[in-house]
Amino acid sequence: MTAVNDKIETMNPSFQRFTVLAVDDSAIYRKLVEQSLLGQQYEVLFAKNGREALDLFAEHRPAVVITDWSMPDISGLELCRLIRRNFQGFHSHLILLTSNSDKEQLVEGLAAGADDYLTKPFHSGELVARIAVGRRIVDLHREIQAKNRLLEEMALTDALTGLPNRRAVDVWASRELSAAARHDFAFWVVLADLDLFKKVNDTYGHDAGDTVLKTFAEILKTHTRQSDICARLGGEEFLVMMTHSDRCGTKTSVERIRKQFENTTFTFGNSTVSETASFGIAGFRGTNPPDWNALVEYADNALYSAKHKGRNRIEFEGLPEHISQDLIGSV
Ligand code: GH3
Ligand code: MG
Ligand code: MG
Repeated sequence: MTAVNDKIETMNPSFQRFTVLAVDDSAIYRKLVEQSLLGQQYEVLFAKNGREALDLFAEHRPAVVITDWSMPDISGLELCRLIRRNFQGFHSHLILLTSNSDKEQLVEGLAAGADDYLTKPFHSGELVARIAVGRRIVDLHREIQAKNRLLEEMALTDALTGLPNRRAVDVWASRELSAAARHDFAFWVVLADLDLFKKVNDTYGHDAGDTVLKTFAEILKTHTRQSDICARLGGEEFLVMMTHSDRCGTKTSVERIRKQFENTTFTFGNSTVSETASFGIAGFRGTNPPDWNALVEYADNALYSAKHKGRNRIEFEGLPEHISQDLIGSV
């Protein structure tokens, strides 16, 4: 839970930069804005025209933009429109600064994407207060976005082991399979299931079982490439997607995992024990990728066969000729 707490802590908007971009072709007004913001804890950037403003916006992603309405290149109105169109998903508080108090035009400004407006000549205390309002809204946006990111991450992560979960696998798998077909690389699905695991829980308790699961997850991570995907499907069942290796290389990698786990000892109370796992593998290489679920089913058949043949072993499942073109054959 600490990792989650750390993340929530860094979500706190006060940890984040707060930049204000002031856009005005008049040097006097730029100066006035600068003086109004003296002593505020904001980083302030200045642009002399709309083009410059867009460049600075792209580079610094300011939290607040205060823009003049009439400028020689891009008007403040157009600037608001462009920012909203080009930076969707990023919220910045846009304040139009205008000598125009015509209500029709102000309505147009707000419709173009401005959040607020101030008429020139402005009261410097009011400008500061309106930026503070912007800050409250921007902080809320940042908090919601960070929480959404965390929730998305949690929805795809297994809480016990920190590995991606079944949902994450389903998201990645089809994409990876099509990539394997398009770029002609080998794709392997390895299903692993701990052997007689129920006995661990029954004999040493659920916490002991959890320790074994976490250790197995660590072994998977440390014995696979960074580009391989290790996941916990649920219970004591795991999956690894391996790419760019031939049948022999895949077997060697999985054998290393099997051995490492077999040789790991656990101490529960007065007992020192070791556990084992069985592995079922199905592979594909060719131009017509099989359905993801079908491929997993092939690996599951191989796993079943590994269990049947006495556990703590690796079995491959050959795919039908029309699915796999060059990976089938005995090991
Ligand atoms: P086999 O070799 O045939 O796979 O036998 P097994 O005992 O491993 O298989 P079975 O499916 O009968 O038992 C799986 C056990 O896994 C049952 C359940 O108590 C345990 N289990 C599932 N999820 C968890 C978990 O999150 N934590 C712990 N500690 N145990 C779990
Ligand atoms: Mg099992
Ligand atoms: Mg099982």
